[in-house]
Amino acid sequence: MRDRRAQSRHSGAMKTAYIGLGANLGDPPKQLRAALEALAQSPGISLHKVSSFYRSAPIGRADQSDYCNAVCSIATSLSAEALLKILQEIEHAAGRVRGERWGPRVLDLDLLWMEGVISHSPQLTLPHPQLHLRAFVLVPLAELAPQLVLPEWGRVDQLAAAVDRSGLTPIAE
Ligand code: ATP
Ligand code: CA
Ligand code: CA
Repeated sequence: MRDRRAQSRHSGAMKTAYIGLGANLGDPPKQLRAALEALAQSPGISLHKVSSFYRSAPIGRADQSDYCNAVCSIATSLSAEALLKILQEIEHAAGRVRGERWGPRVLDLDLLWMEGVISHSPQLTLPHPQLHLRAFVLVPLAELAPQLVLPEWGRVDQLAAAVDRSGLTPIAE
């Protein structure tokens, strides 16, 4: 029983996925590091590369603190739905309270892209629908996957080179 339940959360082969991390409440770099540690500890997930950390001006409401953003790559045996659930559990454990979209938060983990997965549901849209528009996603993603081609939008390094990065500063660590 236990084995079957575990298996049902898995989709077979290991797949690469990219996750966008963001925070603008508390100690944002510390929360990003804790989230990376939580991902690395999660069954079915192996953490691969982590981008530089960036400071970015908020989108949506301007009356909130700057964000700290980064992107990481993982390999996972989980389905996209199971992976999203784990991301939401890590957000919850970090103290995230579900408030307005684009409002301040202690941790935001977005599933950006997953190998072989296209999804159009509001609960899980893949690739992430804003990915090609956001400097705070494209610039760190281009560190890890410059040659990744996003259907309809093009190559990540070209998208990153074209986006307005004036609100984005690398954080010296
Ligand atoms: P944005 O998605 O524009 O970055 P946000 O991160 O502020 O906005 P949230 O409030 O964190 O949005 O999430 C809203 C909903 O988005 C979640 O309930 C989740 O089910 C859904 N969602 C759809 N696609 C994705 C995805 N690729 N990654 C994470 N959440 C997603
Ligand atoms: Ca987000
Ligand atoms: Ca989110």
